[in-house]
Amino acid sequence: MAAQKTGFRVSVRELVAFTFPPVDIVPASQVEDMLAGGKAHRLRQDGHEGRTEMSIRHVFHLAGEDVELFGRMDAFTEDCPPLIEEMKLSSWRGDDAAPEHQAQAWLYGAMVALEHGAHEVRLAVTYLSPEGEVLRRHEECVAGEKLIAQAEAWLSAYLAFLVRERQHRERRDQSLRELGFPFPEYRQGQRELAVQVYTAVRQKRRLFASLPTGTGKSAAVLFPALKALGEGETEKILYLTCRNTARQSPLQALERMKQQGLHARISVLTAKEKLCPGECRCHPDWCDRAKGHYLRAEEAIRELLENPALLWTDEVIADISDKYRICPFELALALTELADVVLMDLNYVFDPFAQVKRLYQRKRGVTLLVDEAHHVQDRVQESLSGTLNSGQLRISRTALGKALSRKHPCYKALTELIHLLRAFELPQENEDGRLEHPSAEVTAAAQRLLEEVGGLLNHPQGVPAAELLPLLRTLLPFLYAAEHFSDDYAVLLSAQGKERTLDLYCLLPAAQIAATTKGMRGVVFFSATLSPLDAMKELLGGGEEDACFSLPSPFPRENLQVVRQRVNTRYAARRDSAPRVAEIIAQTAMQREGKYIAFFPSYAYLQMVQELLPADRLPPMWVQRRDIGEEERDSFFAAFLRGDGPRLGLCVMGGLFSEGIDLPGDSLIGAMIVGVGLPTPSPKLRAMQQCYAERFGDGFAYACRIPAMQKVQQAGGRIIRSGEDKGILVLIDERYFEPAYVSLLPEHWRQFSPDVERAAKELWG
Ligand code: SF4
Repeated sequence: MAAQKTGFRVSVRELVAFTFPPVDIVPASQVEDMLAGGKAHRLRQDGHEGRTEMSIRHVFHLAGEDVELFGRMDAFTEDCPPLIEEMKLSSWRGDDAAPEHQAQAWLYGAMVALEHGAHEVRLAVTYLSPEGEVLRRHEECVAGEKLIAQAEAWLSAYLAFLVRERQHRERRDQSLRELGFPFPEYRQGQRELAVQVYTAVRQKRRLFASLPTGTGKSAAVLFPALKALGEGETEKILYLTCRNTARQSPLQALERMKQQGLHARISVLTAKEKLCPGECRCHPDWCDRAKGHYLRAEEAIRELLENPALLWTDEVIADISDKYRICPFELALALTELADVVLMDLNYVFDPFAQVKRLYQRKRGVTLLVDEAHHVQDRVQESLSGTLNSGQLRISRTALGKALSRKHPCYKALTELIHLLRAFELPQENEDGRLEHPSAEVTAAAQRLLEEVGGLLNHPQGVPAAELLPLLRTLLPFLYAAEHFSDDYAVLLSAQGKERTLDLYCLLPAAQIAATTKGMRGVVFFSATLSPLDAMKELLGGGEEDACFSLPSPFPRENLQVVRQRVNTRYAARRDSAPRVAEIIAQTAMQREGKYIAFFPSYAYLQMVQELLPADRLPPMWVQRRDIGEEERDSFFAAFLRGDGPRLGLCVMGGLFSEGIDLPGDSLIGAMIVGVGLPTPSPKLRAMQQCYAERFGDGFAYACRIPAMQKVQQAGGRIIRSGEDKGILVLIDERYFEPAYVSLLPEHWRQFSPDVERAAKELWG
């Protein structure tokens, strides 16, 4: 739905969804829809005599408003009377056509009657198998007048909703015209950033921005995007983050703007697992909130809309869901449609299986603000890759075997897939197990299994969803990767005894990121460590027309003293270098009483050095363990944020404590970074390196050095969080003396102090 001064535009799909809401939440079934929907349509349309995918529109005049209805008919035959055909996959099990499918045909029928002057129209709803075979067909011939009267009745009911939404937008835009920057003055660089963001939205471009800590990026990015919203340059703002905790800062900025008169709807979308008060078994038979959810949700939404001061946070959504006994996740999803600004995980846009389709279908009206954008590549790579492991599949088969007989087609399909995988021979010609193409046989077997699993999800036959969902989560990404396989992927086979793992690994997701963001009303990728910008632009699918922008650190340069120490920390030299590393860490932590963290490239190296540290002369140590739990995490914050005494933390780089945490003031006065953060060599990494060498020239830089130095920047960036913070950063590795590495350090780190004592003296006298 798009607001227009002259009236409203409504798609047939949207009107039908409004008029025929479902009653219950049912499992994410219709697996066929996810992979085979388009294929079935195409196969059926190929054999059709009339026109396919024919667009049609008509402007209705209702209650003094112009409402343009539009859509695309699956098939249309100009005859007397004309024939409209709607094609659907076979998931509908009733004897007649499903009411919402029939309504779709009726709406097209009404438009054909009006636009073509037809007195009668033949309407067919055809149900297809995934292969495009006709399973059932329901045909009727309806008088044009009857179709038009029905279409007007449905549109009139929807019009009340459209008018309410328009009133909201008018009030919102008025408040945005009056809204000033939410802080008394702009910080250094914020105004320039705001101009860049505003221009990106107006020109529908992508902007890649490197914004160091302290630039107040959340407010400076949100404010111009909101201004553009008020001017009709965009319709919705999605603020994406990688972690829930990263939403605090934009939420605070928005809350502040609300207090200053902003009248906009702001919602948060959090993962289903976090919002669900039960066990996430989304079926009306198991979850009383799923049963009749849509009947009660409307009232809950109305109550929220009546209180415009509220931000629709997790807590607000949980409270109102408890009150109406509805599903909080489904409610949060519905609110994303009504909201002007949505804060959510980047997977909801970039992961093809988590994508919020209802938002994505309207992407031409959407502006994306992508925070922590240095993580986008990894996350998208992960969601576009798929893995089959015969050992894991055997575990699923054992669980299924308890509920199904061995003769059940699903059990057989699973067995077939396991056998095919186990029959794989490792290629002799390369030690990384790299294959040329995905195996067509394995893909076909996985597809057959998916169809069986989909069938069982719709009609469980005593198989709990918990046994089927892991299979689904394995098969869908694998088949997606197989379907989209290109030079941007690698096929990697590995063996453990008899078991085989087949990876379809996405090496470079740039094309996918570009396609996902194409046509949006401005996309801003920003982060404190999105550097070097040119390389990040290439890796994130940017083009010539897209802009780059970076700001210097706003803090006094002398507040951070950086020292380099020439030590060989490469894997083979770690036992030899550990004493020297321990010495440097101890020396730094003894310069001034306070809190320090040393970051290591691995747990093993951390332990090696820990044993050599003179514990009796150092502050009490806090050591990060593998598989750290909630309790230990809290103990870290208790020690560094709330505790008074000095501390020495030993942590792993790239882990929980080297990124995304705020340790202001005396919570951290020094960090020692051991190594340059290079990733562990693996077949996947070598395949990436090779791919990047072909695309960008320097495969090692793009696949290894750049991401490594982003980790270093993140870890070092914990020290200075405000204009008053002071601290020392010690970079321990001989590669910090090489230009290729130095050039990737932030500019304000590159004036090195000669040694630790001198640096400490500069800082603290
Ligand atoms: S409340 Fe939980 S189990 Fe019920 S439908 Fe929602 S997410 Fe599923």
